[in-house]
Amino acid sequence: MKIFAITNQKGGVGKTTTCVNLAAGLAQLGKKVLLIDLDPQGNATTGCGMDKNHVQHSIYHVLIGQCRIAEAIHPTTAEGFALIPANRNLAGAEVELVNEIGRETKLKTALAEIAESYDFVLMDCPPALNLLTVNALTAAQAVIIPMQCEYYALEGLSDLVNTIKKVRQHLNANLEIEGLLRTMFDNRNMLAQQVSAQLTQHFGDKVYETVIPRNVRLAEAPSHGMPVNVYDKSSKGAQAYLALSREVIKRNDLTI
Ligand code: ATP
Ligand code: MG
Repeated sequence: MKIFAITNQKGGVGKTTTCVNLAAGLAQLGKKVLLIDLDPQGNATTGCGMDKNHVQHSIYHVLIGQCRIAEAIHPTTAEGFALIPANRNLAGAEVELVNEIGRETKLKTALAEIAESYDFVLMDCPPALNLLTVNALTAAQAVIIPMQCEYYALEGLSDLVNTIKKVRQHLNANLEIEGLLRTMFDNRNMLAQQVSAQLTQHFGDKVYETVIPRNVRLAEAPSHGMPVNVYDKSSKGAQAYLALSREVIKRNDLTI
């Protein structure tokens, strides 16, 4: 079982889009996938077609010990992967856990209960370096960092890399960077090309070969509660996320 945190403290860079569509792509290629929504915004939950305001067992209940992780797992029929939903309740978890011993390891402990039930677990992090993100970084084997190739992107990246180093020192010595993913890429944009070149210079083959283009189908799909490979399989966005899924499988020495 490979556990990935999809994270970047910068907002709106394509974390949720990547989480939902990578989960769907991996499932399409025959892998067993669990998506965990760790963001009180609940965007991944909505994007999978689930009504976030009417869930009985969510990741919040798992984290505060009100239910077992297995009880919070919901099948998503069309997409072929499983989902642990989130909603705005989750924003309270940080406060409720503040005096708890081991508050950073709640998710890791819960995941141990379902060890080896899935090929991949993908966690959609909120745009913050808070306790929820720390829980994800502690539970994960590696991080996938979606980023837009903009001027401030590299600066934000060094904050994230420092956080990863701190988590390695204190909570999860083996945490790796799985890959950096260029999202919403526009090849005609000179600045994007320059930032992309700098990124490969710094991070070498940690940068995924697959580039996710800006594609309107990717933006439309969540409003229909579907990943893009269900909403419009032939779109450029669907093709890109399928290519990414293949690359992730290959990087992890798995076969399709
Ligand atoms: P947040 O930090 O708020 O959680 P996020 O990093 O999860 O945001 P998304 O919600 O995935 O980012 O994407 C932000 C917006 O950009 C959304 O409206 C999404 O539909 C759109 N979007 C993401 N990727 C693409 C793409 N490749 N092409 C076009 N639109 C995209
Ligand atoms: Mg998001």
